[in-house]
Amino acid sequence: MSEFWNNRVKNLSPYVPGEQPKDKKLIKLNTNENPYPPSLKVIEAVQKAADDSLRLYPDPECTMLRETIAACYNVKPDQVFASNGSDEILAFAFGAFFESAGVSKGSGKAQPVLFPDITYSFYPVYCDLWDIRYQTVPLCEDFTINTEDYKKNGAENCAGCGGVILPNPNAPTGIALEAEKILSLADFLEKQKKVIIIDEAYAAFGAKSVVPYINKYPNLLTVHTLSKYASLAGLRVGFAIGSEKLIEALKRMRDCFNSYTLDRMAQAGAAAAVADTAYYSEINGRVIKTRQRVTKELCSSGFTVLPSSANFIFIKFPGVKGNDVYSALREKGILARHFNKERIKDFLRVTIGTDDDMDIFLDCCKEIIKTPKRND
Ligand code: PMP
Repeated sequence: MSEFWNNRVKNLSPYVPGEQPKDKKLIKLNTNENPYPPSLKVIEAVQKAADDSLRLYPDPECTMLRETIAACYNVKPDQVFASNGSDEILAFAFGAFFESAGVSKGSGKAQPVLFPDITYSFYPVYCDLWDIRYQTVPLCEDFTINTEDYKKNGAENCAGCGGVILPNPNAPTGIALEAEKILSLADFLEKQKKVIIIDEAYAAFGAKSVVPYINKYPNLLTVHTLSKYASLAGLRVGFAIGSEKLIEALKRMRDCFNSYTLDRMAQAGAAAAVADTAYYSEINGRVIKTRQRVTKELCSSGFTVLPSSANFIFIKFPGVKGNDVYSALREKGILARHFNKERIKDFLRVTIGTDDDMDIFLDCCKEIIKTPKRND
């Protein structure tokens, strides 16, 4: 806190990203990075872009990258927006599509935006940043999302909601939602002229993307990242796909903030990544196989593992508290992610690493449940 801060910054509660440890010996399973390297074509493209042209600004419209994405996803370039990580795109999207408190189109206060009580913890941060009211909708007992809950009429519910954002698969549970349910909600919201954002950060690991429906639902925005499936968390590239009108709004936001959000190397590397579908389906197939093997082994040893369609698992150790498991794993050189939140405080989110990393992880898990620190 400082006397020089304005009220906006004083009242912010910033998102806390997962730790990026200095100790390189730790097995890092805490921020859902891909354990395999990016495509060699990406490295070549980045190196090639690092030349004299760096004295010039990059293409603000990311034309070549957007054209590559459009061809790959069978949409038009004007239905694609690319920017500096999907977090930035989400920040623009909240600012562009969800009304600030007290600023309503017709009468009364702006209606709250809806998202699950257990989800990506950046969503409430964006709401606070833009002064957007929000309401969380509880996940079901089994941690699934019931999209019907988002349609219910009620004092604060969706007949008058300000829009919806859902990750698919959800994070940190990893549970995927059927496309039909998303589309039914998109249809419901379209009639109310409200936007639905589907954050597909982890969709490549097992969820069905709703990109093919963006022409049918002009209120449907899908948000994607190269950080996970394309092993490029360090390049910071994300993109959104939606109707031209939604994309135009994102551009308006960007151009009131920073016209050049993606540098020359990032644009070149990202285009090479998007085009190299063969390489990425191979490495991500491996991640999925490892996830299935680890899940099976943990379940048969008495751990609770939610059914994941992502590159991480959400897991509960039998009879050991979540923060104790986190510390015990760390002592053994494994970094996972723990969320100190009532419903999930005994779970840990664990990124799927290489088979070797996961074998070490499995051995550590079995040792931890044998030690006397148990709370049962
Ligand atoms: N959405 C979800 C659900 C995520 O977990 C993440 C990664 N923390 C992001 C978006 C942001 O990804 P990035 O900014 O690296 O593109």
